[in-house]
Amino acid sequence: MGQIETEDSSHIAKSSEHRCPHGNRRAVYSFDRTSEKLLCVQCAILYPSVFRRSLAISVIVGSLLILINQGDVLLRGSITSLVILKMCLTYMVPFCVSTISALSANRV
Ligand SMILES: [Zn+2]
Repeated sequence: MGQIETEDSSHIAKSSEHRCPHGNRRAVYSFDRTSEKLLCVQCAILYPSVFRRSLAISVIVGSLLILINQGDVLLRGSITSLVILKMCLTYMVPFCVSTISALSANRV
């Protein structure tokens, strides 16, 4: 009882003290090693370098997955609204994986 933070983060101020100014959310992500500024989950997802990388990975990996999973459907030309929905979801998977990975690696 009493000790909230158990991680060794003595070089950084305790994350529970940081709140994001726009939404008063807990700010626990840091991508800039030169600054002690912490970001909330929304700001971390929209952080330019994280967002750009996730988008690029989504385009590359998502396109490969669509080629593997829907390639025959695309070649046949029998594209339905369900196929389009599946293609959109296929692009979302690598985007989410990349973003979650970046956020979990940069959580302080
Ligand atoms: Zn924020």
